Amino acid sequence: MSGKGNETVTHRIAVIGGDGIGPEVISVALDVITAAGADISTTDFDLGGQRYLRDGTVLDDDTLDELRAYDAILLGAVGTPEVPPGVIERGLLLKARFSLDLYVNLRPFTLPDGHSFTVIRENTEGAYAGEGGFLRKGTPHEIATQGSVNTRMGAERVIRYGFELARQRERRHLTLVHKTNVLTFSGDLWERTFNEVAVEYPDVGTAYNHVDAACIHFVEDPHRYEVIVTDNLFGDILTDLGGAISGGIGLAASANLNPDRTSPSLFEPVHGSAPDIAGQGLANPTAAVLSAVLMLEFLGEAECAARVRAACEAAVSHDEVPDIGTDEIAKAIHAGLTDG
Ligand code: ATP
Repeated sequence: MSGKGNETVTHRIAVIGGDGIGPEVISVALDVITAAGADISTTDFDLGGQRYLRDGTVLDDDTLDELRAYDAILLGAVGTPEVPPGVIERGLLLKARFSLDLYVNLRPFTLPDGHSFTVIRENTEGAYAGEGGFLRKGTPHEIATQGSVNTRMGAERVIRYGFELARQRERRHLTLVHKTNVLTFSGDLWERTFNEVAVEYPDVGTAYNHVDAACIHFVEDPHRYEVIVTDNLFGDILTDLGGAISGGIGLAASANLNPDRTSPSLFEPVHGSAPDIAGQGLANPTAAVLSAVLMLEFLGEAECAARVRAACEAAVSHDEVPDIGTDEIAKAIHAGLTDG
């Protein structure tokens, strides 16, 4: 519950369980946050690879408009091996990100030694904008181009979000990651914008890393990072690496935010539908629960979010990756709520 005085607010959540392990982990996430006292009402949306196979629907405009009426969207995972690559990714995930203007992709990481840092990935532009095409397709002289779209407005708003977030952190430090020595047009725009916005935040320390150097630092010296801001493609790759150094795919949560709150933000675990383990009770639900924590934080439910986060931390020992199933981990998280 949240609100001023006696007034309380029930948060309306659109739930897309999706495919494979998606519904399994989302059901745990909803149980846990409800047990922690979150005041939510949920509506299920049947979307994903299975729905596409059934009737050809990916994400139609009417459904998109329906989603706009909710306070947040919680998504498990979408995609099935029978659907050709790109159909669900572009038609559902990217369409939602672009249409709802979810321009911040936020991924927090906690290392085994407890150090936390956050990667902010630009979520609506760059190489993912869909610019490009084929010439002479299917011939020996085929040409494919895939441009990277970078606008001043798009770079500035996500960089500004990075400075605002860094300002709330202990060290007040923001690193820009790009590849300015080779990508001299888009890199120049990003670096100039970063430096100009930095003048407005004299209390925030800054650094710049090329993306290849950042990959080395992630493995050898991740403590140097507190908040990172980067473009769509570099952010996609870097955050998978972030997941790998901080407890694995079963723990990695993400938020797709519209910080201006002109449409609902979308929260999802980083992992996919994992068809190899679907339906076997083997999926780790922690990433989904932590994604719901990000959702609660964004909805202003800081206290409830902190309780659930603490319960997840207590349940998951970074030292030994638990070789146990969905139910056992769910029970451990519930136990952490009670203990807390
Ligand atoms: P996508 O392209 O949708 O990301 P993918 O198959 O490349 O799909 P995932 O679905 O994330 O990637 O799965 C990669 C592997 O990680 C799976 O084979 C699965 O064994 C493992 N995995 C993913 N998520 C989990 C989880 N929550 N718990 C346990 N194992 C998982």
